Amino acid sequence: MKNIIRGIRRHHLQRLKKARASDHAIGASRYGDSAVLGRHVNAPVKCSCWMCGNPRRYFDEKSRQERIRDEMFMTDSATMGTVGFDE
Ligand SMILES: [Zn+2]
Repeated sequence: MKNIIRGIRRHHLQRLKKARASDHAIGASRYGDSAVLGRHVNAPVKCSCWMCGNPRRYFDEKSRQERIRDEMFMTDSATMGTVGFDE
């Protein structure tokens, strides 16, 4: 199982390196630099200003994914009742 997980991770790494090789966030002068490409694949957004960064940091708000998860949890709880949580 461990080797399968490793294989999937390596597959997606290769896939993203291919797909993001010529992104504008890298900059044309640094195309072909494998270290820059590796960083870009793991952290696609170059900056963390107030528009791009995590809203929790700047506005004390939850991120989009966190709000989606919370909403899913609330609808699940509403449809299934609160059995199992309050007991
Ligand atoms: Zn930004």
